[in-house]
Amino acid sequence: MHFVCCIKQVPDTAEVKIDPDTNTLVRAGVESIANPYDVVALEQALRLKEQYGGRVSVISMGPPQAEASLREALSLGADKVILLSDRLFAGADTLATSYTLSCAINKLSHEHPVDVVLCGKQAIDGDTAQTGPGVATRLGYTQFTYVVAVDWINTEEKQIQVRRKVEKGSEVIRGPLPALLTVELELAKPRRASLPAIVHALREPIGAWDGSAIGASPKELGLKGSPTWVRSISSPPAKIGGPTFDAGEDLAEAVAKTLDVLFSDKSFAIKLAKRWEA
Ligand SMILES: Cc1cc2nc3c(=O)[nH]c(=O)nc-3n(C[C@H](O)[C@H](O)[C@H](O)COP(=O)(O)OP(=O)(O)OC[C@H]3O[C@@H](n4cnc5c(N)ncnc54)[C@H](O)[C@@H]3O)c2cc1C
Repeated sequence: MHFVCCIKQVPDTAEVKIDPDTNTLVRAGVESIANPYDVVALEQALRLKEQYGGRVSVISMGPPQAEASLREALSLGADKVILLSDRLFAGADTLATSYTLSCAINKLSHEHPVDVVLCGKQAIDGDTAQTGPGVATRLGYTQFTYVVAVDWINTEEKQIQVRRKVEKGSEVIRGPLPALLTVELELAKPRRASLPAIVHALREPIGAWDGSAIGASPKELGLKGSPTWVRSISSPPAKIGGPTFDAGEDLAEAVAKTLDVLFSDKSFAIKLAKRWEA
């Protein structure tokens, strides 16, 4: 079995700031981490490899600094890691990103046929959750999103069964391999790397592929291949507190006034009415 993980290096969102002049993320001096959803995807890939045998490959598209996330993947047990880096990849929207990743997965598939691709549900910076489904569509793989458990893989019949999160519960679905999964955080608790594994990973050379190595068409890469662009970016206005009523003086009046305020908000009244109906 060949499992491929897509890991994006992201700024630690707790520290993200927006440059008010350029409307872009301020990345200077901000620590980067492997996208937490992708670390869960890697954990699941490693568990599947332990259960069914095979290999785990990891790809990351990004600047040379993204190597750090790939070294982390190596220290956790990935067999092969590839950095996808090229000036032509810069400015990619999700369409161009999914194109680049799918070209790389195609190349990996020529080395060893790919059975399962695992992506995070979303990246904590871009947050679109479009890349995984985009890659699956481009490759023609079966697509399972919001995965919270992998029940089994039938290696003979090339089938997989997963549980995916839906509103008010989960859904059990199965389908043919090759498949692409986008995973939720609760799928698996990531392991920690041992110190010798971390040291070993620091010494390993990291493979790098550019646009020509993955056989990509330059006009579909980066800014050229991106039909969308960010026109402006802004923070939502800070929420201000509502009125307060002192229940100490007159409880009944405070309750009445509170209800007046709540029912003056139409959406609250509708939600309450729906709850009563249910
Ligand atoms: C016009 C435009 C220009 C942009 N320019 C830039 C730019 O110059 N520099 C920049 O950094 N971003 C840029 N972006 C953002 C970039 O398009 C997104 O970061 C990228 O497409 C992934 O989308 P997302 O972050 O919403 O990931 P999601 O779709 O939420 O990610 C889901 C999953 O896909 C996988 N994945 C996503 N991205 C990668 C990756 N790079 N490598 C491996 N796996 C991945 C991961 O498994 C991840 O969990 C630009 C976006 C637009 C619209």
